[in-house]
Amino acid sequence: MFDKLKALTQRYHLTNKPPSDLTQSRGSATVLRGRIHPLSMFVSTPEEAWSAAHKQNALAAQAAAEHWLQSEARRYGIRLEFDAGEWFGRVRDVTVNEILRGRIDGAPSDGSNVRKLHDYARVLSTQAGLRTPRELYLAVREKYRCSSSHMIVYANTWGRAHALPFYADDNTDDYLLEGCVVYGLDRPGAPDPWLPATIAHEVLHLYGAWDLYRDPAVPEELSAAGELLFPNDVMTDNLNPLGKCVVGPLTAWRIGWTPEEAWLRVLPKLVEVLVSGRPL
Ligand SMILES: [Zn+2]
Repeated sequence: MFDKLKALTQRYHLTNKPPSDLTQSRGSATVLRGRIHPLSMFVSTPEEAWSAAHKQNALAAQAAAEHWLQSEARRYGIRLEFDAGEWFGRVRDVTVNEILRGRIDGAPSDGSNVRKLHDYARVLSTQAGLRTPRELYLAVREKYRCSSSHMIVYANTWGRAHALPFYADDNTDDYLLEGCVVYGLDRPGAPDPWLPATIAHEVLHLYGAWDLYRDPAVPEELSAAGELLFPNDVMTDNLNPLGKCVVGPLTAWRIGWTPEEAWLRVLPKLVEVLVSGRPL
């Protein structure tokens, strides 16, 4: 028990830089405050075109996610607003040959999703009439004077949502625009509407938030912290209605809304839980 706790605190103190470090500031999703300009895109394969109603659902879900993020930011005394942004493929889908599904639970990533996200960023810049995602991002910054921008790709098929924060320091032509992919369906044939909490979860990743749910790909200490301390954090569970979700202190620290101490203050509670074996 204590080993885990030690690992948890060491991980945060030693191995993680504050959210203002370079990995968080090089990409387009620099900081989740001020005015954000989202670039959204509807993609489909020729076999699975979008319906107008389904697109409408996605638009509404994004608006709900942004509204929620804004009100959570307000709780932390942070001013945050979202531009209406750009919607590519709103009248006619942006057609691609193939849509990847996202990583299935526990499966190691082979990097194909990452490459695909870069492909989407290139498709998006072409749609905007520019040569590279970097050019697109710089044009958006220049035109809208926003603090950050990010890409949200809506794929009209089933799959697992994922985000690509910018960690590489090479090839900024491709990597500068940070984005995520969300899917219309959870699994084949599931009549699942777009989930605002999933969109909020993926957007938060772009600004530095960690996953806090139980998954082989998530460090044990983080899923334990999520389960015991932050069960309502949108990074712990993104399938709930947004009204039941919060941006908890750990996530708030990761995205730069609070200083580190704010979430470290809850650690004694974790000790209590680990020692007593009883949930809070
Ligand atoms: Zn996640």
